[in-house]
Amino acid sequence: MHNYRENIGLRRHILIVDDEMINREILGNLLSAEYEVHFAENGEEALKILRGREHIYSLILLDLLMPVMDGFTLIDIIKNDEKLRAIPVIVMTSETDAEVKSIKLGAADFITKPYDMPEVILARCERIIELQEDKSLIHAAERDHLTGLYIKDFFTEYIRQIEKYNPDHSRDLMVLNIEHFHLINELYGRSEGDNVLICIADILSGIFKSIDAIGCRTEADYFYMYAENGLDYEGILKQILAGLSATCPSYHVRLRIGVYPDVDKTLLAENWIDRAKTACDRIRGDYSRHIAIYDNEFYEKSKYQERLINDIDDAIASKDLLVFYQPKYYIQGEKPTLKSAEALIRWKHPELGMISPGDFIPLFESNGLIQKLDRYVWNEVAQQIDRWKKDYGVSIPVSVNVSRMDIYSPRLREEFLELLEANNLSAKELMLEITESAYADNAEQLVNVIENLRNDGFIIEMDDFGSGYSSLNMLTTIPIDALKMDMKFIRNMQKDEKSMKLVELVLDIAKFLHIPVIAEGVETEEQMMLLKERDCDIVQGYYFSRPVPADEFTKFFSDMSA
Ligand code: C2E
Ligand code: CA
Ligand code: CA
Repeated sequence: MHNYRENIGLRRHILIVDDEMINREILGNLLSAEYEVHFAENGEEALKILRGREHIYSLILLDLLMPVMDGFTLIDIIKNDEKLRAIPVIVMTSETDAEVKSIKLGAADFITKPYDMPEVILARCERIIELQEDKSLIHAAERDHLTGLYIKDFFTEYIRQIEKYNPDHSRDLMVLNIEHFHLINELYGRSEGDNVLICIADILSGIFKSIDAIGCRTEADYFYMYAENGLDYEGILKQILAGLSATCPSYHVRLRIGVYPDVDKTLLAENWIDRAKTACDRIRGDYSRHIAIYDNEFYEKSKYQERLINDIDDAIASKDLLVFYQPKYYIQGEKPTLKSAEALIRWKHPELGMISPGDFIPLFESNGLIQKLDRYVWNEVAQQIDRWKKDYGVSIPVSVNVSRMDIYSPRLREEFLELLEANNLSAKELMLEITESAYADNAEQLVNVIENLRNDGFIIEMDDFGSGYSSLNMLTTIPIDALKMDMKFIRNMQKDEKSMKLVELVLDIAKFLHIPVIAEGVETEEQMMLLKERDCDIVQGYYFSRPVPADEFTKFFSDMSA
């Protein structure tokens, strides 16, 4: 068995509270060889000595019958006091029924008067101190220092214990996370960040107690809870937010909750946490949702996405990724003429069939794989342009999509130049579409990248214009060569006047900037004519053609202007 005294080498402090001098002397003599001994003559004096120095006392020896404040009163105060509670109390008494009463009140042990067996008294003191220290040691190991909540390992162990003895209950695992917690630390300081964490932990502790749940904190700003199935998570969220706005009223803390309801008991607690966390992380940055439930659909979707992530390398290696081409027509002439094309990716998965980019582009944008995929497309396109030139004698410019992540890759310009060189292309032949939302990210860097690319001769089209937040101001500072009008305007153009007005506005802006507009998603002759009347230059959409494979695209070559 371990012995703290040897380990730590500190003399413990004991407070002896007794109104009779003779008792104080006997006990003092008995204990002072081993301990630092302090004395008080009644409960009130004891409190004065203890206050502010609670942490130094390892034990209180307490007489029950004393003037001013008796032992019963003192023990009651001690056990109801946050700071004093941890100090064990041994009562000293000659009445047996008082012993029972004091143990009930919370005393750790008792010693009977008169003190005729010194070794017994010493041994009891030592045992009680050791017990208490074991308890706080365990407490420290299972609790997170900052918030007092459990740590994750203990939490999962606790869940295992609950399930061992009580496996038939349906329960939920909840994960709560603070949106942009690092920003709170950066903007308001770490101690303010700590405050927020403590505040959330305190509110959660109250909730845990009231609904008989357990919880922990981990990875700085994640809180987990294991509780009965079917709780009112909206209510819990509201309760925490209300508490937070009282604690830190000067700024707004946003929270996300992910719930894995009715956990599958055949899986491990760690899997439950993963699922709740997946749900929680899925709504990161989504300001319209605060609570995400991990359900079957969610599970299927996550599995599907995992599969896509796993298979992407194979798809690139075995050319299951196909590049389709959609023509863009110039419509202001007597008859429409083929102007260029846009390259759009398709995934012909050997088992899952044809997958549309809407299913994997956003996924790969979120995890960075888009860079790999885009390079594959750019390379395929560059080769294709060269092949058409050789086989058909036509030079058809093709635009490729450039994701916002690509913009920040330091070798972007070199990569494009290498691509031109390797395929004997001029910069005009490989056009670049950059989505409007990328322009809001980091305008300065973007302007830089685009200026350099334009100096090299590349043509830059701003994609999805009107779908995001680009301001007119930005348009005048960012050098671009064409605006691609978002297709939602075209879709609604004939339905509501506002959309038509916006189409006209976009066309006016482009005229002001002396750049052409490409209208996307044009499906009918009527739409095409309305655009033509309003001086729109270029049209892309199902009206002319859906995106088609490269060999099929050659049928449009006869529409090229001489
Ligand atoms: P986007 O760049 O705005 O591409 C236009 C989308 O509109 C394409 O969808 C195209 O097939 C579709 N479209 C064209 N004409 C019409 C029409 O008349 N009616 C309708 N309803 N739709 C039309 P797709 O091919 O499904 O691509 C969706 C998005 O995926 C693209 O939007 C683009 O953001 C992204 N994407 C596609 N290929 C790539 C790629 O190689 N790299 C990157 N980074 N993104 C790509
Ligand atoms: Ca595009
Ligand atoms: Ca677009």
